[in-house]
Amino acid sequence: MTSNKAVIGKAKKANCHIHITGALSVQDMRAIASVSNTDLKLFEPLENKMSFYNYDVWAAAKEITSSKIGLKKSIEIILQREIRDNVSYIELTINPAGMIRRGLDANDFISVLLSSAKFAKRSNIKFKVKLGVNRKDGKGSISVVEQLFNSCPRDIVVAIDLNGDERKFPTEKFKEGFLRLRERGIPTTIHAGEHFGLSESLFAAIEMKPNRIAHSLVATGDDEILKKIKESGIILEISPLSGLFTGALPGLEKYPIKKFIDYDIPMVFGSDDPAIFKRDLTDHLSSLLKCGLNIDKILELNELAFKYLF
Ligand SMILES: [Zn+2]
Repeated sequence: MTSNKAVIGKAKKANCHIHITGALSVQDMRAIASVSNTDLKLFEPLENKMSFYNYDVWAAAKEITSSKIGLKKSIEIILQREIRDNVSYIELTINPAGMIRRGLDANDFISVLLSSAKFAKRSNIKFKVKLGVNRKDGKGSISVVEQLFNSCPRDIVVAIDLNGDERKFPTEKFKEGFLRLRERGIPTTIHAGEHFGLSESLFAAIEMKPNRIAHSLVATGDDEILKKIKESGIILEISPLSGLFTGALPGLEKYPIKKFIDYDIPMVFGSDDPAIFKRDLTDHLSSLLKCGLNIDKILELNELAFKYLF
């Protein structure tokens, strides 16, 4: 008998939420370091310590992706792994401001995206990129990212994303800058409401008129927020397992997927930080079985998601 997970594994999928820095295992980073002249010692303290709250993991991934060859190799490894999970469309989130600060040339960044798109085409996967603004870089970094966005090919770079710690750096502070992006016709996605009790962050995000909001666990049980999301036509980016690994979600049975369905809110799915959580998109979609959905509903949502791609 074929298991439900095997059926989801075989289905064609769109991974609409995956961070480059969370998608590289220690083994990947070592392999990339050996071709990009990065100091291998950087990875010694990371063995068996992949965790969302281990800052060294993120630092190593940031370092490894900040050279031209390192970025190119990282994207290739990620694309190959996604193909094995039957992902036929990917939106990879890359935060470029820090990379440029660490010495990556903006033209090299663009040329890597172009060569990666060719690699993807040969491998039968559609490759798209969101340029991320990390909240900790401050609102000043929005214009740095916007400038780069305007120099990038629009058939590859599809949106600007706001990510990073929303508890330390409130969403509200980025409202003006992100509204300006929308006024200039730039699509946006916003990480908001990743922990319970962050309704203010989520309300601020809705007011920023983004195309999509990512995670939004706070919406659990909050009909006012769900109504607003539905009315504003915002699409949700869903990674049900992420909250378990960040500690935001006490158990999958608390994940509000049924509420999202009741309110008829459009959804896309993503694996978020697959190397850190050691869970791919098939795992995230399969976890919806534990949220009370049956296999047919999950396959239907997976197929529907293709309607909401950039
Ligand atoms: Zn994310």
